[in-house]
Amino acid sequence: MNISGVAEIRELLELPAEEFSAITRQAGELGQSVHGGKISVRGMLGYTNICRCKCLYCGMRSPQKIPRYRLSEEEITDLAREGAASGVQRLFLIAGEDPGFQGQKLLSLVRKLREENLTLSLACGELEEDTFRQLSERHLPAALRGRCCNPARKMKIICI
Ligand code: SF4
Repeated sequence: MNISGVAEIRELLELPAEEFSAITRQAGELGQSVHGGKISVRGMLGYTNICRCKCLYCGMRSPQKIPRYRLSEEEITDLAREGAASGVQRLFLIAGEDPGFQGQKLLSLVRKLREENLTLSLACGELEEDTFRQLSERHLPAALRGRCCNPARKMKIICI
């Protein structure tokens, strides 16, 4: 089954229990064949909670009166190194849609973290098309899923 949208996800979730179990069993076998019996350690790093958006379900939405922070590239890299030294193999970078951490700044951060041999996942909102292309073509080719939210202007990273 090729899952590419909500309809396929719904179809999967509505499968009879037996069929669903067969799929989860196959997924387990695939995971075992790829990773063996090893545990893969993942870390999550929220590098900024500043966000210009107002998604109603989200605690970081811009109207929320919460303390805001934005880590510097150096602080993030230090934390990533610490994580890597503790065994983290994949780092999940999470951020609000922070206008102060886009474009070249984001690309520079990703480039630096890739030098640490970390596998990265990103959830940082909407990006300019050029940034998105550079990320997906040069830095995180296998890690990005893109969706055009406005084909004329922007691409949006929606998952990892
Ligand atoms: S863009 Fe992300 S961080 Fe910002 S309000 Fe929406 S869900 Fe929250």
